[in-house]
Amino acid sequence: MSDIIQLLPDNVANQIAAGEVVQRPASVAKELLENAIDAGATEIKLLIKEAGKVLIQVIDNGKGMSTTDARLSFERHATSKIRSAEDLFDLHTKGFRGEALASIAAVAHVELKTKQEDQELGTHIKIEGSTVQSQDVISTPVGTSVSVKNLFFNIPARRNFLKSNSVETRHIMDEFHRVALAHPDISFTIYNNDNDVLNLKKGNLKQRIVAVFGGKTNEKLVPINENTDIITVNGFVSKPEFSKKKRGEQFFFVNNRFIKNGYLHHAVLNAFDGLLAQGYHPSYFLYLTVPPHTIDINIHPTKTEIKFDNEQSLYAILRSTIKHSLGQYNVAPVLDFNRDATMDVPYHFKDKKTPSTPQIEVDPNFNPFETEKKSNPFKKQQPAHWESLYVGADTTEINIENIEVDAQIVTKELFDESDNQITNKTYQIHQKYILSVVKSGVLYINQNLAHQRVLYEDLLTKMTVEDTSSQQLLFPLELVFNVPDINLCREIQLDLESAGFQFTSIENDTLILSGIPANVKQNTLQVLFEELFETLKNEVPESSFSQLDIIAKSLAKSLAIKNGTKLTNREQEELLGQLFSCKEPNHSPFGKKTFVTLSLDEIQLKFDN
Ligand code: ADP
Ligand code: MG
Repeated sequence: MSDIIQLLPDNVANQIAAGEVVQRPASVAKELLENAIDAGATEIKLLIKEAGKVLIQVIDNGKGMSTTDARLSFERHATSKIRSAEDLFDLHTKGFRGEALASIAAVAHVELKTKQEDQELGTHIKIEGSTVQSQDVISTPVGTSVSVKNLFFNIPARRNFLKSNSVETRHIMDEFHRVALAHPDISFTIYNNDNDVLNLKKGNLKQRIVAVFGGKTNEKLVPINENTDIITVNGFVSKPEFSKKKRGEQFFFVNNRFIKNGYLHHAVLNAFDGLLAQGYHPSYFLYLTVPPHTIDINIHPTKTEIKFDNEQSLYAILRSTIKHSLGQYNVAPVLDFNRDATMDVPYHFKDKKTPSTPQIEVDPNFNPFETEKKSNPFKKQQPAHWESLYVGADTTEINIENIEVDAQIVTKELFDESDNQITNKTYQIHQKYILSVVKSGVLYINQNLAHQRVLYEDLLTKMTVEDTSSQQLLFPLELVFNVPDINLCREIQLDLESAGFQFTSIENDTLILSGIPANVKQNTLQVLFEELFETLKNEVPESSFSQLDIIAKSLAKSLAIKNGTKLTNREQEELLGQLFSCKEPNHSPFGKKTFVTLSLDEIQLKFDN
């Protein structure tokens, strides 16, 4: 039998290679943009027509090519970026495979114009389906322009396989964004069908992210910075309340190259654990810098998948860095000590046009807030029956002498260094309980549950009289939920407005707020509404009052100071004063005990046993 194996002609080999490298117009855009960056360009223009099906052109002001190089650049495996196999493990350029231009030229009409700085005239090459049509001398600016027309002209199956213009344009924009985000120090302009679509000026990383994704992005970002021996991590993650229903703005760059990596993605999600509502995704823009020899980019023709030497360590570092940064960005609300005058209103319903009778017992003469707020809450502010608790335990005078010696030992172990001031009247334990000495023993107050009670009565007061205070937002705030939740929100709009929320619109899946209650922090709103919708779905209101009551309860729960929050002595005292000014201080709005008492007898009993 005769031999049957033959070497494929170059144009066929190139076409086959193109199948991998050039999947759609966006792949061409990516390769050309990367070449421009590798050429050291500081200004890059991308022009597309008909979603790249008619034209994709990249013009750069980089170093250009000599005439010989210009011709060679279209040969397969022709590259100026690596010389030996070792170079593969020390890559500093985007390209290195030397097959992009050859592949593109195999499946399109390509025109190259290029000139180097020291050249008088440049080179102009036309090539169609791997066949050089012409090569001339041309007058052209320093740098390179590559235009790619009629992509897949010789592979009808591929051409027909392309998606609609809007889909293909989106793919191009995705690639453009990735490249632009990786290189904020380069200015980029994209023209779509001759219209100026996006002009990105050279700037820092944050400016670039904001330029690409819009002005509102700025307030949503938490900076991430970490420097270790094996990796440097820079960039931003979105604050949890700005997480999205759609996955989307999630970017990893390794040594300035956009990459996809499921494992590291998981590390980020892990860092957000417990901070995101079900089905929500964080945005992230993370720039990892690692020694080039610790990665292998060579595992995928489009170079978006890379292999790390020490993936597990990177996972751990990434996760803890992000966790740490999110922790520094405080999601917990703080106590509001600047209570305004509108809160000094009686706790009753007479001014409210409620159709049904309130179902809780009302004392029209009771005013929890009418006493002097500045005074010591333990001395004056509690209603009479509380006063007796503190008789004989005048807390203002507690000091080392009257606690006596063993108390010193106890306090050393029980309290933080900074709180180790025995002259104070209250103590915070484990950033969760407030300990207060009373006549008959000791009170342990749960700070979260206590604050829920305070806020609940406060909100109910606000919601049941006409006058409420809300803070106007500088910019309307958009929150996205699912449609049933938005419908729910529309049903309770009036009640929410009576609590101090102001809505610009409640439509489809979005509500837009123009004002929020005075003591609510903007960055807690997403979670606050989610919790509210959850509570409303679980509790069936029996009357319009109980609906109001449910809303007050839920808001109180969301806004209450969380366990784990450190309180100053002043805050502790203030909270206790407010709690014992409440109508029903013993229980949280959801019926849990707000505090427990340990009597002197009970304490003594422990010593007796
Ligand atoms: P690679 O980028 O992997 O080297 P390409 O096929 O993309 O392979 O490009 C081949 C070579 O052509 C590059 O190595 C580079 O020397 C040259 N080249 C391509 N585009 C440009 C450009 N815009 N400016 C200067 N040189 C370029
Ligand atoms: Mg290249």
